[in-house]
Amino acid sequence: MTLRAKSEHPQVKGLRRDAGHSAMALLIYGKSVCALCGRVINQNELTCSFPPFVVNELDACFVFSDGAFHEACVRKHMHGIDALRRVDEWASRVGPGKRKCIVCEMEVADPDDYLLIDHLSDREEDPLREFNYTHLHRSYVQKWNSRSRFVDLAAAALASDSWKGPYLIRLIEEIGAKSLHQ
Ligand SMILES: [Zn+2]
Ligand SMILES: [Zn+2]
Repeated sequence: MTLRAKSEHPQVKGLRRDAGHSAMALLIYGKSVCALCGRVINQNELTCSFPPFVVNELDACFVFSDGAFHEACVRKHMHGIDALRRVDEWASRVGPGKRKCIVCEMEVADPDDYLLIDHLSDREEDPLREFNYTHLHRSYVQKWNSRSRFVDLAAAALASDSWKGPYLIRLIEEIGAKSLHQ
């Protein structure tokens, strides 16, 4: 079972060291408070620090995004195991070496020319799900043949009651705005 596999594996701790592609939540022993139990996190305790891997504030795993917690509290939480799975998936899909542009199929090397559509949805029936972890050269956005479909679906999601937070608004502005100049 997943839980056992995780505890035998230093994966959770490993996440904290893997700060290469994204900043982990700041954890100060003796000061940081675990948002799941409300207690201070001390140095002798096992911890989980998560990167900002959830962008939808209504996502059940949003509570974990960019946060630091007692490992035991994460495992006890009803969405904790799901969050560990999601962050594993996120780490395997985002970061240097994984930024293959969907338009030209080349790795995006220039961070200023990089556009990521992060994990948007876990719901199987959600049409936005196919856009999870889409990498693009910013300069190629106009050539992306799913662009207008994406913008329409994202706008519909935003207008629905399944989305909250600034992420999709910025993304729609970024991806949609260029059509004005086409
Ligand atoms: Zn806790
Ligand atoms: Zn490209």
